[in-house]
Amino acid sequence: MSLPAIFVSHGAPNLILHKSAARDFLSEYGSELGHPKAIVSVSAHFLTREPAVVVDEHPAMIYDFGGFERELYTIVYPAPGAPELAPRVTELLTAAGIPVHGVEHRGFDHGTWVPLKLLYPEADVPVLQLSVQPKADPAHHYRIGRALAPLRDEGVLVIGSGSFTHNLGEVFTSRGLADPDAPAKDWMTDFRDWMDEKIVAGDTEALLAYRSKAPNAERNHPTDEHLLPLYVALGAGGLPAARVHYSHQYGALALDAYRFG
Ligand code: ZN
Repeated sequence: MSLPAIFVSHGAPNLILHKSAARDFLSEYGSELGHPKAIVSVSAHFLTREPAVVVDEHPAMIYDFGGFERELYTIVYPAPGAPELAPRVTELLTAAGIPVHGVEHRGFDHGTWVPLKLLYPEADVPVLQLSVQPKADPAHHYRIGRALAPLRDEGVLVIGSGSFTHNLGEVFTSRGLADPDAPAKDWMTDFRDWMDEKIVAGDTEALLAYRSKAPNAERNHPTDEHLLPLYVALGAGGLPAARVHYSHQYGALALDAYRFG
């Protein structure tokens, strides 16, 4: 049976510390997904010019943020890497004409460990990290996803981890983080509703052109590395697509999650 591919919003790194709808969702969703043989994690915080896979057997931790609770720096996620899966991913991407190379000594960034610690707290599923190309467009990331689709029949769960909206300038005020419970801004909900409609309808053409077609696209994603993992999940999983979680924080950060396939 094919596994789906999923997109999750990882939120601010301290999402893992405090009770919220998004944290509750991630804590419960792992058991619904079952226990894959391995995970390919595509995080908005692993950015390279060309696609790269991490071949470490035991990736370390990366605390790639500042200004949050000290407790966060003590969290570890001891899942093994999945270097044995790297040749298969390389084969699939190469066959699709997409260059990819292996890298060593690259730990789990919080885009990977925040959601995975909630989804699979036992850290017993090997994780292969695959990078995002911030200068490439959604179509490039969609092609990567399409190339990875056969993995779903091989017991591998493809997870794109980003943020459904991501304007940090609107999340931080001069006094620090905005109120987490602030009501959703109209320019955020307009964008989110448009994206949701196109995703559920399977309108890939519109989604690939989101930057010119979706309302307030640039305001919600001043740069789009946090949305690009969604296109990998969309390509890997295809239809049907369903929104499996819907919430927001700070009025501007949509934490929605999708299941593809
Ligand atoms: Zn992030």
